[in-house]
Amino acid sequence: MQTFDVLVVGKGNAALCAALAARDTGASVAMLEAASVEESGGNSRFAGGVMRFAYSSVEDLQKLTDIPEDEAKNTDWDSNTIEEFYDDLYRVTSYRTDPHLSEALITQSLESMIWARGQGARFVPNYGAQSAIVNGKRKFFGRFPIVVNGGGDGLVADLTKTAEKKGVSIFYETRATALIYDGERVMGVKAKQKGKPVEFGARAVILACGGFEANPEWRTRYLGPGWELAKVRGSRYNVGDGLKMALDIGACPYGNWSGRHAVSWERHAPEFGEVEKSHDPYRHSYPLSIMINAEGKRFVDEGADFYNYTYAKYGAEVLKQTGQYAYQVFDARTKPLLKKEYSGRNVTKFTGNTLEELAEKLEGVDPKAFLKTVREYNAAVQTKVPFNHAARDGRGTVGIEPPKTNWANPLDTPPFEAYGVTCGITFTFGGLRINHETGQVFDVHFHPIPGLYAAGEMVGGIFYFNYPAGTGLVSGLVFGRIAGNGAGAAVKAK
Ligand SMILES: Cc1cc2nc3c(=O)[nH]c(=O)nc-3n(C[C@H](O)[C@H](O)[C@H](O)COP(=O)(O)OP(=O)(O)OC[C@H]3O[C@@H](n4cnc5c(N)ncnc54)[C@H](O)[C@@H]3O)c2cc1C
Repeated sequence: MQTFDVLVVGKGNAALCAALAARDTGASVAMLEAASVEESGGNSRFAGGVMRFAYSSVEDLQKLTDIPEDEAKNTDWDSNTIEEFYDDLYRVTSYRTDPHLSEALITQSLESMIWARGQGARFVPNYGAQSAIVNGKRKFFGRFPIVVNGGGDGLVADLTKTAEKKGVSIFYETRATALIYDGERVMGVKAKQKGKPVEFGARAVILACGGFEANPEWRTRYLGPGWELAKVRGSRYNVGDGLKMALDIGACPYGNWSGRHAVSWERHAPEFGEVEKSHDPYRHSYPLSIMINAEGKRFVDEGADFYNYTYAKYGAEVLKQTGQYAYQVFDARTKPLLKKEYSGRNVTKFTGNTLEELAEKLEGVDPKAFLKTVREYNAAVQTKVPFNHAARDGRGTVGIEPPKTNWANPLDTPPFEAYGVTCGITFTFGGLRINHETGQVFDVHFHPIPGLYAAGEMVGGIFYFNYPAGTGLVSGLVFGRIAGNGAGAAVKAK
């Protein structure tokens, strides 16, 4: 049996951060990855790479990437102070986020980003997706002006390179199946390597192998009936193995086990994500649209907030509709503002030169009800309020249900376009209860389990009901680093 000081299960962002932090304490470290080299890296590889971390000035951003002085001065870099990050996280989670975990996440977010840069991660300003020219000046919005160079794929590649350089052993096609536990402490992992059973010994095991979003049976069991029908946006390897292994030895489940991050997603997207085309099915421009279901009715406030604060919960709303689909409808005025994925290939789209023509074409939608909904919506738009897509413009509707709070424009300029969407699940919120200072996993009576740590999507208690965009990767950085340091320190102390 091969033995290491620290064994990390998974090879996504959280696992890599855990492995790197543990290695830097002097521990010998190995990672077990269920996927092949080509498919490795988990959901982290699929991530667009936006990062939500607390910063108080452009000087903080300059600790992460080179921003020339004139650009630093002449740009509105938006803001995301510690207080603003708290406000956003608490508001979108309906004040259920764990106070200790959220404090660790928020207050260690910037230092963890700087640490990740030191580990080889490369960050750049997110000019393309999160900024606009307003009154002649570039202005960022949405509270995340920084993105990972090359997206999540680039992040995983860079951190993997560093891990290999630092002597972390990585075993691919090695699916962990159970913890080796003597009733008191965790001593290693049982796994299946290319179909053969193997065992690895360890003084500490860090589970960083994702949630259960790719397991239709668990989705139905914990998220509810209908969730087996959602498309999976990312990796097919996150089937709840780590959670099962931990629960089997008495680890404490924690957080919003019926909660999940799920978005409006190309209606006919494949069953799982495809790394090389991971952005194609995004349909995040819905705040500029009206969304219509099979009955021809609207069902959410599309403009309640920037998509960053609503997209993660609106997938569930689409899933609830008849047939699990909806259409996002735009006209020629809003079309130039749509994100680039809307003009890509493999897009379910219908066009009409009149609303009547579009209504007849819309597959599976009651045409009369659709036209009635559009007429009522058009009449309800407060057109006197100026439209501004770079701010919450308050250009809403009056007298219709549900209202549209911002960015309401009458659909009156042909051609009209409708994009078919379904629900794409990103990750699940339920996880394990951990010590926020060490990453150590607690048992059901809140006693720490010697030798067991967790990070990333496996940490329960941070996200409830909803999620502020860009927090997943940063959570992986923060809690991966905490677990790596915690496991490394415990190994050294023995
Ligand atoms: C399409 C998409 C876009 C996203 N965009 C963003 C974004 O822009 N910003 C952001 O912050 N977040 C984003 N996210 C969310 C973010 O990707 C995740 O929150 C984050 O990557 C989770 O990291 P993780 O390391 O916990 O899990 P993962 O990266 O999923 O890693 C889990 C690892 O465990 C492995 N594994 C699973 N089971 C086993 C087993 N039994 N044995 C061994 N290995 C196993 C998997 O193969 C994988 O390597 C996005 C997600 C998706 C799907």
